[in-house]
Amino acid sequence: MGNIPNNETIQSHGQVCDLCGCASYQVFATKGRWGSVLTTVICQECGLVYSNPRPTAEENAEFYHKKYWGLYKGQSAPDERFFNRRIPKIRSMLGMLRPFLKEGVSVLEIGCGVGALLWSLKQSCDGKGNFVGIEPHEGHARFCRDSKELDVHAGLLDEVAPKFEPKSFDLVVMNHVLEHTISPTEVFTMVKSLLRPGGHFVVEVPNIQAPGSRLSHFFHVAHHFNFSPRTLQRLGMKTGFKINRIEELDGDLERVRLLGVFENHPKVELDVPHRFIRDDAGERAIALQKYDQWYWFTLASIRKKFTHWLLQRG
Ligand SMILES: [Zn+2]
Repeated sequence: MGNIPNNETIQSHGQVCDLCGCASYQVFATKGRWGSVLTTVICQECGLVYSNPRPTAEENAEFYHKKYWGLYKGQSAPDERFFNRRIPKIRSMLGMLRPFLKEGVSVLEIGCGVGALLWSLKQSCDGKGNFVGIEPHEGHARFCRDSKELDVHAGLLDEVAPKFEPKSFDLVVMNHVLEHTISPTEVFTMVKSLLRPGGHFVVEVPNIQAPGSRLSHFFHVAHHFNFSPRTLQRLGMKTGFKINRIEELDGDLERVRLLGVFENHPKVELDVPHRFIRDDAGERAIALQKYDQWYWFTLASIRKKFTHWLLQRG
């Protein structure tokens, strides 16, 4: 992909792995989507694939408050058409969340965008419950409030969380949002404090084990972390959750979506010691290189190209 990768281990100056705290890593790539300058590394200790350096908390907040939707989704001013286009994209997640819904349920969606999922959840319960969203972009948050009558707060999780009562939600959802945060450990810790005992945290992220594209397209300046089933599981264990489900799900290609269902189980510290199978940095690097070399020849990628071609022909 025109990137290094090399096998040299480097000591980090300042930024350490968010998952295990280790300071040494292997540089895997130096370019991201659309040729952007982006250094992607693999942690030598736990195998987490992440961007290094990452933006500071202030830079990240500024980016999501003002730029993200306009730059990457081409939609800085949301409207009804854009909302309707989001509905098919959240259907699968909506189906997965249905078992957690009951009358009077209290739900929080972090990074709710224009509110397509939150609105659909509320409809599923005939409005009987508490449906709250957090969205950093003021325009999107306003659209949710004004056009969809949703209780959506503008801001990032750490800015808005102090407004909520601790242990007040039955269900917290992050649908392709965790990878955009600058500390998933802090996010999991905050979410745990907001969940009632027995409450659930449902997370979906892209799957580094099946990127579904060339890596030069997969690595994205707005995605600071690239999880595998093992690293996502370790994140849940580290922050004291009971792991109910870690699963690779099909999207436009096989296994490209990674789902985690975590429970705020009162006895988790006793029941689940912090055991996990670590991702090996060397094995991860080799697997990624192989994936990148063979991607064009896989049946899946040929099918994806063909589908795109059909769509473009209209
Ligand atoms: Zn690590």
